Amino acid sequence: MATVVIDRLTKTFPNASRPVLDEVGLTVGDGEFLVLVGPSGCGKSTLLRLIAGLEDPDHGGISIDGTDVTYLPPKVRDIAMVFQSYALYPHMTVAENLGFSLRMSHTPREQAAAQVERVAHVLALETLLDRKPAALSGGQRQRVAMGRAMVRHPKVLLMDEPLSNLDAKLRVAMRGELMRLHQREATTTLYVTHDQVEAMTLGDRIAVLHEGRIQQVGTPQELYHHPVNVFVAGFIGSPA
Ligand code: ADP
Ligand code: MG
Repeated sequence: MATVVIDRLTKTFPNASRPVLDEVGLTVGDGEFLVLVGPSGCGKSTLLRLIAGLEDPDHGGISIDGTDVTYLPPKVRDIAMVFQSYALYPHMTVAENLGFSLRMSHTPREQAAAQVERVAHVLALETLLDRKPAALSGGQRQRVAMGRAMVRHPKVLLMDEPLSNLDAKLRVAMRGELMRLHQREATTTLYVTHDQVEAMTLGDRIAVLHEGRIQQVGTPQELYHHPVNVFVAGFIGSPA
């Protein structure tokens, strides 16, 4: 379990006239499911990449459980990330995909098998373990991607629009799966989407990012009934 604290995090890409993230502050509580929303291009993926250690900030800090990880290599941060494109290994079976990171970290074989079995059970993948990704549906592939992220029990789970490649019906079904999964595992989660309904149904709290800044953080009800500005109201708020 882990708390993530983001403090005045600023990121400017080369040749950009202003920072994409401008002194962003945000705390994801221990076991919380926090949804980050905002329009396309507002810097959601960049924020996740900074937390994962795939980019360095201009300044500002990221800490996990009180440890400053801002400039630590990705490997030691104990963070798992699920992307929009699933990027499963096509030549490996579901079981091999799920177990890959355990093999890389030299987890003893029996323990690895038990961990793969556990996520396969949680994600209802037991009957698919011998299949290759090409023989799976979109929803099944996405479940494998989530299982692969969760198999090592990461402290923090980052998800970047993980459902956006699925059709509408499957997206709704997967929302339910995600909620059940989170109830079971209670992994501290930062979940990015540009889908308001997804944000409202999944988030313990929602953070709205716009023009480089977090405009508001609150429960879905708070944002819906008491948006702090016109942007939040337009994005999430009640039409009244
Ligand atoms: P979002 O995920 O909210 O759609 P991104 O974080 O992907 O937004 O991108 C935010 C902005 O930063 C965009 O204007 C994008 O073009 C720019 N950007 C993202 N990555 C890079 C990069 N590696 N180099 C230069 N500009 C980038
Ligand atoms: Mg993005």
